[in-house]
Amino acid sequence: MTASGALNPTPGSLYVVATPIGNLDDISARALKVLNDVALIAAEDTRHSARLMQHFGIGTPLAACHEHNERDHGGRFLARLLAGDDVALISDAGTPLISDPGYHLVRQARAAGITVVPVPGACALIAALSAAGLPSDRFIFEGFLPAKTVGRRARLEQVKEEPRTLIFYEAPHRILECLVDMQAVFGAERPAVLARELSKTFETLKGLPLAELQAWVEADSNQQRGECVVLVAGWQAPEDDAAVSSEAMRVLDLLLKEMPLKRAAALAAEITGVRKNLLYQAALAQQKDA
Ligand code: SAM
Repeated sequence: MTASGALNPTPGSLYVVATPIGNLDDISARALKVLNDVALIAAEDTRHSARLMQHFGIGTPLAACHEHNERDHGGRFLARLLAGDDVALISDAGTPLISDPGYHLVRQARAAGITVVPVPGACALIAALSAAGLPSDRFIFEGFLPAKTVGRRARLEQVKEEPRTLIFYEAPHRILECLVDMQAVFGAERPAVLARELSKTFETLKGLPLAELQAWVEADSNQQRGECVVLVAGWQAPEDDAAVSSEAMRVLDLLLKEMPLKRAAALAAEITGVRKNLLYQAALAQQKDA
């Protein structure tokens, strides 16, 4: 690491360091080394990070780099970097820039020709995806949804027919209304997983169709606490209507005369062995055409 103040110094590097999302044992040996060795740590919340540094016996000075000052004060960190000091960027938990501050600083540093080095580690969305049991070969991360229903539903509508696994961050006090809106937009049957309090004492990963997941969360107020990630299976195009035999359609039509669509599809599925969702979609298509 270069000392600051040298004439025409080699610029320092900006290390983007992931910290734990709960379990402090998840910090990496490399993260600890970097945090010890740099001249300055740019932290989202210096009081919060001071406790973490104390835990690991790290005495490196901390300076605030949060949402509100990042754009304006980025220059302060840039000056130190250009003077030859190495700087680490951390957020309150997990990987900086992932629904956390740091984007402007990283962008400014790269534009100034400073080497930016990622020091990978915990990230809630990746931890959740790795254990959710939903397709993980392709996925999209939507971050936090808007706080109000109208905005939230509008955003969900945009990804309604997205075939890749969908990943969202959500605040605990909004988890229930979020699941209600997801159900309204994606449908009751869409598989979903709630990943809560990852790496902590009350870690929970619950996978159910959206309607059942919402009922489960509603019935247990403990599930409305702590930090959570919601994962939703990507949209699957309904198979060709022709896949529903005419016999299955006949049964479905009879049942539709007696009961609501959802119940009729469920019962017809039991009688005929055809997938419930397929029957549901076929009935919807039929109603649209009528
Ligand atoms: N930068 C962090 C990361 O790498 O995951 C995310 C920061 S964002 C401000 C905080 C959100 O991440 C929480 O509201 C929650 O959605 C998710 N999150 C963070 N820690 C979590 C945990 N231990 N379990 C589940 N979700 C978590």
